[in-house]
Amino acid sequence: MEIFKQIAPLKAFLKEIRKSEKTIGLVPTMGALHDGHLALINASKAQNQVTVATIYINPTQFNNPADLAKYPRSLDEDVAKLEKVGCDAVFIPDNSEMYESATSLKFDFGLLGEVMEGKYRPGHFSGVALVVSKLFNIIQPDNAYFGQKDWQQFAIIQLIARELKFDLALHSVATYREPDGLAMSSRNLRLNPQQRQHANVFYNALLQAKKNLQDGKKVSEVKHIVSEIVGEASDVKLEYFEVADSINLNVLEFVNGTEKPILCIAGYVGDIRLIDNMFLK
Ligand code: AMP
Repeated sequence: MEIFKQIAPLKAFLKEIRKSEKTIGLVPTMGALHDGHLALINASKAQNQVTVATIYINPTQFNNPADLAKYPRSLDEDVAKLEKVGCDAVFIPDNSEMYESATSLKFDFGLLGEVMEGKYRPGHFSGVALVVSKLFNIIQPDNAYFGQKDWQQFAIIQLIARELKFDLALHSVATYREPDGLAMSSRNLRLNPQQRQHANVFYNALLQAKKNLQDGKKVSEVKHIVSEIVGEASDVKLEYFEVADSINLNVLEFVNGTEKPILCIAGYVGDIRLIDNMFLK
């Protein structure tokens, strides 16, 4: 596997690949890799001749400095995992490579960026859009792969790809879970054994919410059920539970008439923030 820390040699490598008309798949990550990330690499490998992963903890997408400072880092293990799964290249830039100077560039996504994660993490999606745009420009992939776990992020990336005319196809990969249902996340590494035991409460709440909505309960009633389920777990706090239209992320009070509703949840176990989601159908 080729390892690049700088843009210029990465671009030279990719230029050669493009000459032989091979397709390039991109998997952006922030490292602390788990099997969910590796599922994205496998999805890319199945559809492209060359797969490029990136590992970069992007400071502009962290609205909470403590979250950035405590974000898990395991570069050597990450490189070994990528090598083992057959990733072709990894780009591991530092901040000076990605941001030549302090940036004041901001994106505004309207309603899409104001609900759910946008509401509770102001500025987060602007930072995501900035770094993903940079990666698209540097790597110019044919395909790029993202996890369904971060569905709102995927909707925002679809928007910027459309608006900024990025010439690529975007793919969302199903959420990879632990045996008890907890969505895999780099942040799970920070859970102590006791917290880890309760952390699947968000998944269980989504399952119950889905069942109750399918049984015809109103969204308002289901919200009440979800806060009761989450409230029963110790050291766990619900931040939001919403039912939204998965295309435009409009928050719904009724699911009837919406083609593909998505149930989204976020909360804290101790001081560790976790998110999850599930399609209603
Ligand atoms: P991150 O390193 O957390 O920024 O995630 C990098 C990519 O992996 C994003 O597209 C995430 O949505 C995706 N991802 C994270 N966790 C999972 C998971 N459990 N299953 C599938 N994809 C995931």
